[in-house]
Amino acid sequence: MKTYLFKAYDKDRKKVTLTLDFENSKEFYRYLKINREIIKNILTIYFGLDKVVLSLMDVDGNEKKGFNLLVEENISILKATKKIIRDILSENEVMLISIGMNGIVDSEKGIAKISTYYHWKNINLKEIFEEEFGISVFLENGVNMIAYSQIEEHQNESFAILNIENGVGSTIVRYDREKNQINLETKEIGHIPFDFSENSLICVCGNKGCVETIMANWRIEEKIKKNYGLDLTYEEILKKANKNEKMFRKEIMDMITPLSSLILWLDILGGVEKIIITGKITYLEDFFWKELRRVIKNNLLIKEKEIEIIKREYSENIILKGALRYGIDNFINSKYFKSIMKESEKVE
Ligand SMILES: [Zn+2]
Repeated sequence: MKTYLFKAYDKDRKKVTLTLDFENSKEFYRYLKINREIIKNILTIYFGLDKVVLSLMDVDGNEKKGFNLLVEENISILKATKKIIRDILSENEVMLISIGMNGIVDSEKGIAKISTYYHWKNINLKEIFEEEFGISVFLENGVNMIAYSQIEEHQNESFAILNIENGVGSTIVRYDREKNQINLETKEIGHIPFDFSENSLICVCGNKGCVETIMANWRIEEKIKKNYGLDLTYEEILKKANKNEKMFRKEIMDMITPLSSLILWLDILGGVEKIIITGKITYLEDFFWKELRRVIKNNLLIKEKEIEIIKREYSENIILKGALRYGIDNFINSKYFKSIMKESEKVE
């Protein structure tokens, strides 16, 4: 009996004969039904700001094993992560590794270009891991991974992710109806100049007064410390604003103007109707979102248009979910795929 790798379906979901000429039959990709017996686990990794999270999952997203590695000053993140990967691979069958990375990423080459948090510059994670472990590695920016995690829920739509954490990042996801495919555009939106005043703050990028200097989580902590001498975490500040403690609420409401500017920029340049906001900022209660929606409505260029604002918590889980999806999308580019293709040729 011949083992099949895939069953393929055409656009009307009718079963068709499968051609193995994948180069020239790209439109088949999303309709492939994979033979489950051949499919192994995917190792997803998120290199986060304060920890590295690893999760071994099957293609349905069920976690088989999970690991956390705290990022501390004196550890070698790369070395420690490699050790965990080695342990996982010694006990489990893994077909590929899919990584979400903080900072600026060259996903094509698999390079972590700049990570200010790790003090990394041009680290080729793909090369390093592939050489060491012999399985394919795919790398994307964390915010893009969030975008991938939302694709299923917002199928056939264009939307933008606006992530506000210790940096402010954005990805515009465009759905191309004709080709039935999605395109991701990452935007360094946090570095749009916003505060042109003399005492504007210096940004991590070297410029002055970027949106990030006003909106990043740690900037809010810094401001509370400077203005009131209080050492509070971002979460504590949000809680106090939610409880309507006056000065905290005022400081939080100061974010409405830069945030609505970003959203209006995304509207005019990005042409999206849905903005998914992620990050701890989503812990804020209705007082904030009502005002935000009011300001946006008043300032939209096309008054009839409506921008839907959706809140999603930013968590490792959502990034790992995106990494899984990204890994599945890249399955046919993996060494594992090539090896089973060879096997099947032998069977024939
Ligand atoms: Zn900047």
